[in-house]
Amino acid sequence: MLNIRDFFPYRTLRPYQDKLINYIYDAFVNRTILFLQAPTGIGKTISVIVGFLLARESDEPLIVATRTKNQARIYVKEINAINQKLINRGRKPLSFVVLRSRQDYCLHVKKKSSYKSFIWLCKVIREKCPFYRNCYVGTTPSERLSDALNYLMEKGGTPENILSIASRFKLCPYEIAKNLVADSDVTICSYPYLFSRTVRGYFLDALKKSLSDTKIVIDEADNLPEFILNANSSRLTVKMMQNLLAFLNEIYETYETITDPSVMNRIKEFTELLNLILSEIEKLSKEPQKIILAPKEDFAVILDKNFAKLVEIIEEIVLRIPTEEAFINALRLSELREFTDMFVKMQDKSELIVTKEEELALELRPFHAADIASEVFDNISTCIMMSGTLHPIFYFKTSLGLDKSSNVQEKKIPPIYDPSRVIRLIDIQTTTKYTERNKYMYRLIAQRLKVISEVTPGAILIVFPSYSVMKAVMDELNKMDIDREIFVERRSSKIEKAMEFLSIYSDAIIACVAYGKFAEGIDFRIRNKTILKAVVIAGLPFPEYNEWLRKQLEYLKAKFDYETARKLCLIYPMVRKTLQAAGRLIRSPEDFGAIIILDRRFLSLYKFFPKEWWTFHKFSSTETLKLRLSKFFNRLLRSF
Ligand code: SF4
Repeated sequence: MLNIRDFFPYRTLRPYQDKLINYIYDAFVNRTILFLQAPTGIGKTISVIVGFLLARESDEPLIVATRTKNQARIYVKEINAINQKLINRGRKPLSFVVLRSRQDYCLHVKKKSSYKSFIWLCKVIREKCPFYRNCYVGTTPSERLSDALNYLMEKGGTPENILSIASRFKLCPYEIAKNLVADSDVTICSYPYLFSRTVRGYFLDALKKSLSDTKIVIDEADNLPEFILNANSSRLTVKMMQNLLAFLNEIYETYETITDPSVMNRIKEFTELLNLILSEIEKLSKEPQKIILAPKEDFAVILDKNFAKLVEIIEEIVLRIPTEEAFINALRLSELREFTDMFVKMQDKSELIVTKEEELALELRPFHAADIASEVFDNISTCIMMSGTLHPIFYFKTSLGLDKSSNVQEKKIPPIYDPSRVIRLIDIQTTTKYTERNKYMYRLIAQRLKVISEVTPGAILIVFPSYSVMKAVMDELNKMDIDREIFVERRSSKIEKAMEFLSIYSDAIIACVAYGKFAEGIDFRIRNKTILKAVVIAGLPFPEYNEWLRKQLEYLKAKFDYETARKLCLIYPMVRKTLQAAGRLIRSPEDFGAIIILDRRFLSLYKFFPKEWWTFHKFSSTETLKLRLSKFFNRLLRSF
């Protein structure tokens, strides 16, 4: 009988790690879907692989879906550690592959483009691509590809190994990775391989077996509902459609005398319809709001199966023109075709909107992740959904359509840090409630931030509910005398830039928005030490109320009831964002710090948060805030 020590490669297990491995083992053996909460620093990655090896009966593979490349790297590191142990004991090491996107694994096309465009581009040029052609003789793998696969099965399918052998053997790296999937013990892929409709088909082809014959782990699963909604949204910018129209008008003029009139009629028919779509968007964009509902029934008259077919015909016509411009426009047509397909399939489960948020566009946004997730969960037999914060499980189960399943379990490993190393302070004066957003309130929030910056002995993360609130408060803060460097998140900001900034100014302030890039998934650690000493929630991060959200509430109310809809659309997304931001503070047992909530609405909502959040201190003045914070930090600093 095998035990943990047969695979676990390190000398000591961390607190609760054996319990964690047993939970994973039980879920895989009993073929359940397990929501597993375990704190950061407990060693989740190594536990997953050990639990999998203990539970594995035959050659069933493990599929791990991660959100970031960094998480994938941690899996590679831990598999290598286990493999060393297996080799030392004379056993066969695990074969594995890191499956990245075709775009990440392309040697040929260097030009940056959107993922969808790239997929299309690769499909069109593939037959002429020398790296692809070297991979196959007919449909069977070439000798060169087989040699590369044998080498990587032994050495490990890391991105570095795949790219290096691909350039040495002149093979397409993506084809190498894809061909490794079917025979690997472990495949580490990104979420879209399971949860994006467009990409899943490619993955299932590569896997050559059904998902029910695998064991699955979703890492950082608290992101999953939001990821599914975003990945399955579709967008057409007005600028893109206008460019397409200009190109088609031009070829219509040029080719009129030389081509078949039926072809020209098709182009004419298409441009008339596209003009109709554009004028409808133009009309709607006159409304003052940033997000405007587009009448689905009106658009459905144009965006139907016939239109998708027509777009395909135009795409073929355009591809016959041997110019780069034609190529780019065929790509635009493919976006339009995909949008139409999605609209035909999803119009009852999503809303069509005209958005002016970044640039004028027509967007199709699904309402409920469960409508899409069920395509995956209905076809798998065992899966572990793992994260440091899965609260409340009800939200995740319902959002993913697993609320009625009898095969679902939940387990939680308690926090491993000493609770006295964290203080939660709640301001009973401030709020970012829409009706109270004004200059006076922004100044009040800025005054609190100034005090926090005076007494916090380390970096501070300030999380705002939106860019507009952030700007208004930061304008007030900049009028005050702040003795710290400040990094303010922009839509285009890069995480690497913020980390570079922090490596120079380790007590800086990072101002960001809850729905941006900086409030979750980042470890603010420099030289292996967490540098954050305070996380400030400058207004509870409720999703912005707009016409789409109103429709989403209506849709979920019809499916459940008003209270459930309110929780799913408003309250729990806010709770998740708050927990994620606060989670940046404690990344190891040595860490300590303050969580400060500048929003009095917390007092009526705290019961929606985990139990440990029910203990907090209230304050109403900057003096009390200063006193409490100073006392807390002095106590913690003295204990070193
Ligand atoms: S076949 Fe491979 S190398 Fe060629 S364009 Fe596509 S991804 Fe790039």
